[in-house]
Amino acid sequence: MISRHHVECQTCGFPFVLRIGVAGGEQGFVLGCPICGVELRGVLYAEAGGVTDTEARGPRLELRSEDFHELPYSDDREADAVAVTVYTDLPVPTSLQGIPAKEAFMSPFLLSTELCGQDETLELRGRIEELRTMRERFFPSLRRALSLFGAGDLERLPDALRAVPASDVPELQAYDPVYRLGRLAAMMYIPLGPIEPRSLAVAEVIDLGVECERAYGDRYQSLLDELFADRGLGEHRRRVVETATACLSAHDALLAPILWECVDAPHRERINEFQVMRDDFAQVAARYQDVFELASRTLAYLGILLNLRHRGDPAKWADGEVRSPARILNQTAAARRAFIADELPVARPFIEAINRRTRNEIGHRLVGFDFRAQAVVDDQGNRVNYLLFLEDYLDAVRVTHYLLGVMEKLTLDRHRGRTPQREDVGLPIGR
Ligand SMILES: [Zn+2]
Repeated sequence: MISRHHVECQTCGFPFVLRIGVAGGEQGFVLGCPICGVELRGVLYAEAGGVTDTEARGPRLELRSEDFHELPYSDDREADAVAVTVYTDLPVPTSLQGIPAKEAFMSPFLLSTELCGQDETLELRGRIEELRTMRERFFPSLRRALSLFGAGDLERLPDALRAVPASDVPELQAYDPVYRLGRLAAMMYIPLGPIEPRSLAVAEVIDLGVECERAYGDRYQSLLDELFADRGLGEHRRRVVETATACLSAHDALLAPILWECVDAPHRERINEFQVMRDDFAQVAARYQDVFELASRTLAYLGILLNLRHRGDPAKWADGEVRSPARILNQTAAARRAFIADELPVARPFIEAINRRTRNEIGHRLVGFDFRAQAVVDDQGNRVNYLLFLEDYLDAVRVTHYLLGVMEKLTLDRHRGRTPQREDVGLPIGR
């Protein structure tokens, strides 16, 4: 659904027609005034659900801005004014901006068909619809269950799980609540693209745990006890859950990069002709940075277990150095921990992919979003196209699936929770 408004720019005083694709919920957006070019910010609030594909002004919409104000609808303006089209869930062609209002009827569906082709668009819109539906109907109860897991409150977890749709799947009932929660959480990631790479990387961690327990028995559980009780792994688990749920909660920030990934090559080359009109860079950048740091710290914890597995001593590292667990955890520069990923060949490519184009500087320098340039710009003037940054962000959100999986497996290994994998390899259940 597209909501059509007549508005007046507070800077130049000229009226124009504002067309906003309604995504549901609160949408912060930014646009350039089609007459004077000044940046205008606003918020559209629309009640979630009931968003249809017709272009009309529904009754439950609220448009707010300090930079423009709404005018009463008039046929004259429809005839004479220019239009700006705002989508917060699609990259918008700049060529669509400032055209006569009477010619501005491009729909999101037509736009994505043009960018991705007809078959891709149908598949893509199916995924986006699935993500929206799951965000509305499945995610709130899942988030409550995840928060108990994050807090280490495993006693109350079974009750919270019962409130999550699909939690009553009979095949899962025999297993540990933490394992069941993991399978439900994974469902949220399905619309984000293939989940196999992350699942295979979690399987790498499962194998590591099995090998540690077979070779070292109770010593492995004692090491996990130490990490959870004395080395901050419990707090790390809470932060992984908090960040993953924050990323999934803001699902609409993922839609533009999900679409851009499917865009055909000729359009990708014309990336500078598209705009992202969302006004949420600060929040997206903060979550991106959180994922990056949590991935690095997760590597440090896994490295300690890899040391036990491969070198019989949690303090003996693959680079030949001896460092106590406390030391590697205090050594917060991600580059100094990067070597650990060499012993996690399945996880390594996508942990590194978070940093594919967006330089690590985002965490160390002042970085901002320049709407006119459609770029993330640091204080040295280095630019990354905003859509490419959002693709890195999407990869980071996918990594949270892996990080949740790692925390699930370490939690389960600590109390020897019942899982199909433990049963398959004949490891004892329970402590
Ligand atoms: Zn203006």
